[in-house]
Parts: sequence; C-alpha cells; structure tokens
Amino acid sequence: STPLAELDPEIAAVLDGELARQRDTLEMIASENFVPRAVLEAQGSVLTNKYAEGYPGRRYYGGCEQVDIAENLAIARAKDLFGAEHANVQPHSGAQANAAVLHALINAGDKILGLELAHGGHLTHGMKINFSGKLYDVGAYGVDPESYRIEMDEVRKKALEHRPDVIIAGWSAYPRHLDFAAFREIADEVGAKLWVDMAHFAGLVAADLHPSPVPHADVVSSTVHKTIGGPRSGFILSKGEYAKKIDSAVFPGQQGGPLMHVIAAKAVSFKVAATESFKDRQERTLRGASIIAERLSQPDVAAAGASVLTGGTDVHLVLVDLRNSQLDGQQAEDLLHDAGITVNRNAVPFDPRPPRVTSGLRIGTPALATRGFGDAEFTEVADIIATALKQGAATDVTALSARVAKLTAEFPLYPGL
Ligand code: PLP
Repeated sequence: STPLAELDPEIAAVLDGELARQRDTLEMIASENFVPRAVLEAQGSVLTNKYAEGYPGRRYYGGCEQVDIAENLAIARAKDLFGAEHANVQPHSGAQANAAVLHALINAGDKILGLELAHGGHLTHGMKINFSGKLYDVGAYGVDPESYRIEMDEVRKKALEHRPDVIIAGWSAYPRHLDFAAFREIADEVGAKLWVDMAHFAGLVAADLHPSPVPHADVVSSTVHKTIGGPRSGFILSKGEYAKKIDSAVFPGQQGGPLMHVIAAKAVSFKVAATESFKDRQERTLRGASIIAERLSQPDVAAAGASVLTGGTDVHLVLVDLRNSQLDGQQAEDLLHDAGITVNRNAVPFDPRPPRVTSGLRIGTPALATRGFGDAEFTEVADIIATALKQGAATDVTALSARVAKLTAEFPLYPGL
C-alpha cells in the first residue's frame, strides 16, 4: 500500500484506473504524450513545496538556492535546444504563455491576426470569449477552400486589411508546415510583430525535422507536453530585445509563484529532447502520421466518404474529413473509443456541423511513437482505423479491440510502475 492509497483510496483508485486506461488503449490524441519516469519523479517531488516568485538570483523569497539551479538549467537547455536568445520557462501552461506574449508585445485594444479557430487556430489566438478575443481587436485568416492550406496571399490580404500589431502563426489542428519567412515578410510589410505558437510541433523543431520559427519570429511560445513529451506546461522564447518585457509579463504580469517541480521536469525534458533517441522518436512520429494519411487515402476508405484533409501530412497529425461519410465526428470518435483507440473529433474548415459534433477527426502519433511504435505497428493501427471508418455502425468492434490489445501487450507502458 502507498501513502496515497492509505490516505485517499478514492483518488488512488483514479490513478490506478488511469494508468490501466493508458496502458490498455492506443492514445492518439495529437496533443498528448507519455512523459518519461524521470519527469514523473521530478514533477512529483518536494520542489512543489517551494515558493520562488521572481527569477533565478532575483527572488522575492529566501531558500531558493536549489530551485535556482533547476530553473537556470531549464533556461539554458531551452535556449540551446532551439537556438534562442532568451527563454522564460515559468508559464504554467500554453495558454498562460500566450497571455504573457500578448501582454508583453501590445496593449489592450491593439490588433491581432491569427488563424481562424474553426480552421485549426487556438482559443488564445483571438477566440471571442477567450481573453485574447476580449482584450484585443481580432482579425483572422483562413485556409483556402480548395487546397485547405494556409495560402500566404490570403494572409497578406488579411494583414493589409486589418493592419495588426501582432501576427500569429501557429495552430492546434493543421497538417502542414508554415512558411515562417513569408509570415516575417508580411509582418514587416504591415509593421506587425511576429509571434509563432509552436505548441504542437515544438518536438519536431527540436529534432530538426520541421522548419524552425526561431530565426524569423520576434517571440515563440510553446507547450512542453505535446510532441516534446514533457510535463503539462508552457515556455516562451524570444529575441533578446524582448527578454525583459516577456519576463515581466509572465511574472508579475500574469502569474505568481512558479511551479518549481514542473520547471525541474521541463529541464529534464529539454535534456531528453537533445538526444539521438528523441530524434528517432520524432522520426517515427512523422512516419506514423504519413502511414496513417496514406492508408486513409486509399480507395476503400474514400468509397465510405472519408478523406484526408490536404491529402497528407508534414507533421505528427492527420485530419480526417467526414463530411461525406455516414459517421459524424462524434460517432467516429465513439466508435474508435469502443475499439480502444482514443482520438478527438475536430471541426474541419467550413464544417456544416456544430463544434460539439463536427465532421472530422484529429489523429496524432506522438504518444504511440513514445510507446515504441514503428512502421509495422503504425501500419496495423492505420488499418484498424480504416476498417472502422469503412464499416461504420456495422464495425465488428470485438475484432478491432483484439487487434488493439495485441499492440498494447507488445509495447507495455511504464513497466514496473
Ligand atoms: N497553443 C496551441 C497551438 C495549442 O494547441 C494549445 C493546446 O491545446 C495551447 C496553446 C494551450 O496549451 P495549454 O492547454 O497548456 O494551455
């Protein structure tokens, strides 16, 4: 028995149940991953006890000598990993990092321009009831109705119309690379700052498998828990000239005491992200997504009305368009869930269905790559998904569950935990 099981058996049961769920299902939510045991250890440590308002060497509390070492390591490793002039590793989450970025760069009432939420943008890029939509004057660019890609002519047109103070490049659901140099040119043309939110693809950037926004952007924000596979949290990189503004926007602008246990876990994750095995994992992540996109583009799936948006992927996720399928997004998500595959339904651009239902699926490979999957396993997963999308309500869920169970057994998660 553990201290938690003794003190609070109800919560201990949740932890046990969740570990079993993660072990026995295939996690394909594009924004999720499995942290290494070392990250669990750092995050579940005595560092959670420490108050450390301020920055290393400039704290408002005594006793910060140990946590200062952790934060300095996290900062140095983040700068090194991404070749950035400045790093702030204190944001509690991606959304809080983004709030701090806007707080640092502009004032309430100023103008921002980002990717339309319904086309794959994020809440913090200007959604109406998010702080970003309430505090700032929001414009948006969308994807092209034919190619489903972000076309830079459209971004430029919208930038010239809206005259933003900040242009945001970044996404939560978009399967292609962004042209950061072209974003930079447009930002310069209209006198805007360029902020890239690389929350989703940061791990690919760290592994040199995706163009880096760092040379082009004034500020880059990110989460640590998606492709990087670290603790749930955020960080901000910037050019040196914005260092002071970013730091004071995070603390005291947006946050109080930093979560030192999480910052220590971020340091561990950035160390991991500089290794060859991390690069290998990101390569498998990308190959897995390509394999899935390829399988779901075959005629048997197309005949059932499902297709792959943009016809493929450059990143760790695939967007499936179900507008012509017998399944809506909710039904497809539920069907895969019943077979043991966790994905999320996702609106496709120009989606006729409401956001709670949607006509799409977002399928990601980072967590399975972390679990050890390679081409053979991703080929099998792709075929399981293709079978469900083809057969719809008539799917033999028991048969698919058995195929899922074989894969989860072959790649045990957190053995010994
Ligand atoms: N930015 C982007 C592009 C995201 O996709 C997300 C997560 O969904 C966030 C920011 C917010 O991260 P968090 O959930 O940690 O606040």
